[in-house]
Amino acid sequence: MTTLISHWIDGRTTAGTSGRTSPVYNPATGVQTAEVDLATAAEVDAVVTKAAAAAIQWRQASLSRRSAVLFAFRELLHARTDELAAIVTAEHGKVLSDAVGEISRGLENVEFATGVPQLLKGGFSEQASTGVDVYSIRQPLGVVAGITPFNFPVMVPLWMCANAIATGNAFILKPSEKDPSAALFLAQLWAEAGLPDGIFSVVQGDKEAVDALLVHPDIAAVSFVGSTPIARYIYETGTANGKRVQALGGAKNHMIVLPDADIDMAADAAVSAAYGAAGERCMSISVAVAIGDIGDELVEAIAARLPKLTIGNGADPDTDMGPLITAVHRDRVVGYIAEGAESGATVVVDGRPGYGADVPADGFFLGTTLLDNVTTGMSVYTDEIFGPVLSVVRADTYEQALRIVNSNQYANGTAIFTRDGGAARQFQFDVEVGMVGINVPIPVPVAYYSFGGWKASLFGDTHMYGPEGINFYTRGKVVTSRWPDPATSTVDLGFPRTR
Ligand code: NAD
Repeated sequence: MTTLISHWIDGRTTAGTSGRTSPVYNPATGVQTAEVDLATAAEVDAVVTKAAAAAIQWRQASLSRRSAVLFAFRELLHARTDELAAIVTAEHGKVLSDAVGEISRGLENVEFATGVPQLLKGGFSEQASTGVDVYSIRQPLGVVAGITPFNFPVMVPLWMCANAIATGNAFILKPSEKDPSAALFLAQLWAEAGLPDGIFSVVQGDKEAVDALLVHPDIAAVSFVGSTPIARYIYETGTANGKRVQALGGAKNHMIVLPDADIDMAADAAVSAAYGAAGERCMSISVAVAIGDIGDELVEAIAARLPKLTIGNGADPDTDMGPLITAVHRDRVVGYIAEGAESGATVVVDGRPGYGADVPADGFFLGTTLLDNVTTGMSVYTDEIFGPVLSVVRADTYEQALRIVNSNQYANGTAIFTRDGGAARQFQFDVEVGMVGINVPIPVPVAYYSFGGWKASLFGDTHMYGPEGINFYTRGKVVTSRWPDPATSTVDLGFPRTR
């Protein structure tokens, strides 16, 4: 019998009523382990109603009480990391150490949000005019929603909910239907931490639930992370319905390797960033741009490292790389590798089963693939593959490499490998990408900065988490205040001036 994964409404697990479900698999075995409820618009409406009522109370909670709940949640998350990591691995497939890594990066956002009393401090100007003071405050929006992708079932929800809740909102999470259990574990921890019912809800679902959130009049803001076509749709639909929207999309992250780079360090970084989590990270490196003569040496060094990676069940501590999320996705990646080969790329290492790759027969596995001499017109270059495939593009000069990066529609992350500080600084100045690593291949900003790409990697003008997250989940208000002596009160029809 498969388990039924349901919603979390008003502080408890709540069975769905739609009669529609979606299968959940263990990607390492290929076996279906559960079914997840898919909510109707009416079920979404019921969740929003509960959340709206709870939000009215929660915004009254003192900053120290909210901070105390966040501290308690932080402790629970920390203490139960291994349990949560096992849940992530069982439904996503990433190796346990990677799942622990994701939780610890999410935890950073909780730690940031514990500082909410400091983060919500406004400005104060005494005597802006004679006897007049002016000050600013930030207030919660009410009910906000987060719609999240399969690839970070813990970290991405924490990017959103920690700040949304700390700033006094009720948060409704619509996780990916591919790995929905981690969201319920988080809900349980929030409840144990003392968060009032209705402030963190989980509504399981697909497009129907998402569409219901996007048009619901009581949802004030939507945070989304996922693929670019859906991000664009979320942004357009949400804003057309009067909501604040931040919608993060897909990526094609380039790593530029200058001729002076340390080859071993660059190859280690390329392998870690391209094949970690089987390439299913929005900050994975999927293109290495080798400048000048360094190309052959770099390709050789990367290729030499790949046979040493152990591919298998992520629950096994000796595994380096787990499976892909579904059989359909695995087959799509196989199709890209074939297209790359047909269009003239050199297949240096072929990860396709049947082409020499040593991968388990069960489950949604694919080996590591390294393609050389990729050009910018090939589909392996233009499209986000989201699998363990690294494309090497050759460039003669820095300027040519920069043009390649800046011409790509995606602009999430990028990295440069060099020993030349001046060259790195020039790259940081020139490159049109939201997050830049200098000898750092996966430059995910720490929680006290904000995360976001440019161009087709982000729709909206606010990046995720950190200071921008606090602003996203609050509205500014400015108060101009005078406490005059009634004896001095007069009528004055002139426009108020500062005197
Ligand atoms: P996805 O876009 O398929 O799904 C994301 C969410 O949208 C899920 O909750 C899903 O249920 C919902 N959804 C899917 N189709 C929908 C539709 N037609 N209408 C309404 N809602 C819909 O993304 P995914 O496959 O879960 O995740 C992988 C993608 O996410 C990759 O493109 C990756 O680059 C991207 N991603 C980006 C970042 C970032 O920070 N920019 C971070 C993580 C993942």
